[in-house]
Amino acid sequence: MRKKIVVGNWKMNTKSSEAEDLVKKVKESKISLALTEIVVCPPFLYIPKVAEILDDTVIKIGAQNCFGEKEGAYTGEISPNQLSEYCDYVIIGHSERRKILKESDEEINKKVKAAGNEGLNIILAIGEQLEDYRKGNWEVIIDQLVADLRGLTPNVANKIMIAYEPVWAIGTGEAATPDYVNKVATRIRQEAGGILGRNNVEKMRILYGGSVDRDNAAKFVEVPEVDGLLVGGASIKPLEFINIIKNVNKVK
Ligand code: PEP
Repeated sequence: MRKKIVVGNWKMNTKSSEAEDLVKKVKESKISLALTEIVVCPPFLYIPKVAEILDDTVIKIGAQNCFGEKEGAYTGEISPNQLSEYCDYVIIGHSERRKILKESDEEINKKVKAAGNEGLNIILAIGEQLEDYRKGNWEVIIDQLVADLRGLTPNVANKIMIAYEPVWAIGTGEAATPDYVNKVATRIRQEAGGILGRNNVEKMRILYGGSVDRDNAAKFVEVPEVDGLLVGGASIKPLEFINIIKNVNKVK
């Protein structure tokens, strides 16, 4: 049985006081933390402070990105080795990084390997653009999966989780339908089996992301192949995020 998970991606939002306030509200809410794993992904700068606030809780911390090397002369970058002091998770391959920062599958693959080797759990984000969605071209999602997970050693292969995020659904208020998400997630699990091995893939959690809110959250987690959510915009609104978790907790 795969434990449900809700991940909040704050992106490049919040100032330090807002970050503290947000995480304190989540911590102090009366939500049960036993049924669903909760991960918050603040901007790098606030990770140590958020870690201090969450120290006595089971809420985990994730980074929104990392570099693909352990250490060295890489000005401005943050390594998985550094993140591993504070974080359990890292998001790799978010569509905003693929699109705006032109991150390639080759770089993403390097990051996956570097992060996994430092013991971080990887939330690999993949998804199709609107044009491909309209053409029913799922192969682009599978191409990302294959390229990003190429050549992983067993210690990294068992740290993968996939966030299926149709790019056209991110931040648009137009979420995909649960039925569609289930079809894509089923295909992702099938294909990932050939890459990561059956054992790993049975345990691997698949998340949906794209305009999740308190009203639609449970519907996605009810989908057989979906184990959790990657939440962007709604994760920086404390009450909305808390209600998403409450609604996910209700899903059997
Ligand atoms: C995201 O950025 O990963 C995301 C899912 O954003 P939103 O929830 O705002 O669509």
